[in-house]
Amino acid sequence: MVKRGDAVLNKDLWREALNLFAGGVNSPVRAAVKPQPFYTDHAYGPFLFTENNKKIVDYVLGYGPLILGHSPQQVKEKVIDQINKGWLYGTPSKVEIKLAEKISQHIRTVEKIRFVNSGTEATMNAIRLARGYTKREKIIKFDGNYHGAHDYALVDAGSAATEFGVPISDGIPKDVLKTVLLCNYNDLDCVENFLKKEDIAAVILEPIMGNMGVIPADQDFLEGLRELTKTYNSLLIFDEVITGFRVGLEGAQGLYEVYPDLTTLGKIIGGGFPIGAIGGKKEIIDNFTPNGRVFNAGTFNANPVSMAAGLATIEELEKGKPYDIANAAAREIVEELDKIPIFHTINSVKSMFQIFFGIEEVHNAKDARNANKEKYIEFQRKLLDNDIFFPPSQYETIFTSAAHTDEIVSLTIERIKKIASEIK
Ligand code: PMP
Repeated sequence: MVKRGDAVLNKDLWREALNLFAGGVNSPVRAAVKPQPFYTDHAYGPFLFTENNKKIVDYVLGYGPLILGHSPQQVKEKVIDQINKGWLYGTPSKVEIKLAEKISQHIRTVEKIRFVNSGTEATMNAIRLARGYTKREKIIKFDGNYHGAHDYALVDAGSAATEFGVPISDGIPKDVLKTVLLCNYNDLDCVENFLKKEDIAAVILEPIMGNMGVIPADQDFLEGLRELTKTYNSLLIFDEVITGFRVGLEGAQGLYEVYPDLTTLGKIIGGGFPIGAIGGKKEIIDNFTPNGRVFNAGTFNANPVSMAAGLATIEELEKGKPYDIANAAAREIVEELDKIPIFHTINSVKSMFQIFFGIEEVHNAKDARNANKEKYIEFQRKLLDNDIFFPPSQYETIFTSAAHTDEIVSLTIERIKKIASEIK
């Protein structure tokens, strides 16, 4: 019998975790790794090294931020330099200016920015800002889009909210739910109907959905949203927490050449440290306190370590090579996955992809839910038995990084081939 306090010595971590945390974890998707989550001791490049001495090739990558792989030297050095100078000041510091300039240089719609600590905070504040700016209350979101774990956005949300069967969380006041109108992804008519009938503060969406697997928006859909929101004086918010600096330096907006009023960012811009940001037109961002009357504040906002890590990451990405490697890795793995002799479809954009079994096309969240997710999980578990870690849920994205070199891709392909012959 392991007594409390002995778990770390005995490495019976999961048993103790179940005593300490709801479901054994501090973020739900981590509990989806079966039969039980493995514990990582350290991580380097494309690898997670587990407590029980396994070396696992990682395609989860912290659920998106680690586009350079784990603990890349260039980022580590900058983080250590920053730590040597202190890690929390409670005053502004130069590095926040540098990161803001860098982001706005690449993402042209980001004229001004507010740094917060997570993607959740970013979208929560973007929605508040849109409401404050337009003096309207309702927003439109899309089935399966995930914008973080706050009340305004947990309405038919994807990611762990779908995986664990709570697309609408308990505990959200009914009056809040009434302010969130829902449409299917890629369904412009639905948006137009709402915009005609109601006063809408903002339409918020992931321009490439990464929280029901990967589902790219149609070009016409994004262009239509841009037009319609202009016509009805609503704001268009792109949630680029995943896609920002992942699908290119200009994000999904640069890829589609459709430009929102507000952009939320997170993940990559913190280089693996906690971060979020709301960027957009000066006249809108200026409504944040202390300039305006939309309140936002944070002890850790613009934390210098996150700023330094994000800056170092973007400086590496500017060289182009990290994207070349990550995108090529994704392309080659997708090609191999496509040969699996079980009926499936694969959606991919640059270094993001997901496979859906048993369905011909995945265009929105309903399609994704209709995919054979049991088959995906069977595949994912067999891969993990072979030391390849794909996300433990159909409703997440498989990511590659600059650490997924040819050698790692070849190894992965070899294991995929082996498993493909085992699943029926
Ligand atoms: N928006 C999107 C598109 C996301 O994918 C996520 C997290 N996966 C969030 C917001 C929330 O970010 P965080 O987990 O940093 O709060």
